Amino acid sequence: MQPTTPDKTSLPSSPISSEEKRDWISMINESVHTYDDIDIGDVYAVSRNFIVVKRGFVNVHYYYIPIKKVEGWDDNVLWLKITEEEVKEKYERDTIPDPNQYFVKEYPYYTGFTSYNYPLPIIVRRYPEAYEDVTKSSPEKNVPRIYKCDLCEESFDSEDELDKHMDIAKH
Ligand SMILES: [Zn+2]
Repeated sequence: MQPTTPDKTSLPSSPISSEEKRDWISMINESVHTYDDIDIGDVYAVSRNFIVVKRGFVNVHYYYIPIKKVEGWDDNVLWLKITEEEVKEKYERDTIPDPNQYFVKEYPYYTGFTSYNYPLPIIVRRYPEAYEDVTKSSPEKNVPRIYKCDLCEESFDSEDELDKHMDIAKH
């Protein structure tokens, strides 16, 4: 006689995973497309202010894209508001993202997301015209570290100041 094991595997079969893609960290490894629909690579790292896109394998490029240049996640692709040309011209850097300043998949030490101020925009489908420029900022500072804008090398005492810089600098 075989004892019938109690059915503990009755997990709700997840029908669609779209509900889970709700924050920036979940964008790691997802494809990034520009406004002109060029696949520029996958999300390699994220922070409150940037997504870092890694492109290529032999010749690796890193694109430090300010989060406000992101149009949104449409459940398949992370869309940017800017063209490939603009990405290459303004946001390409040789720097590898610092795991203290970015959430990197292999080194998830970054803690700046506790109350990040710019939620991942979820879009139903791609509507390039309908982007909203949300500029909310939450007043919280607690991390005593130097934050560097990897686009212009300026340093800041807190990530909030980097937030402000990103507002002003128009990267
Ligand atoms: Zn800067």
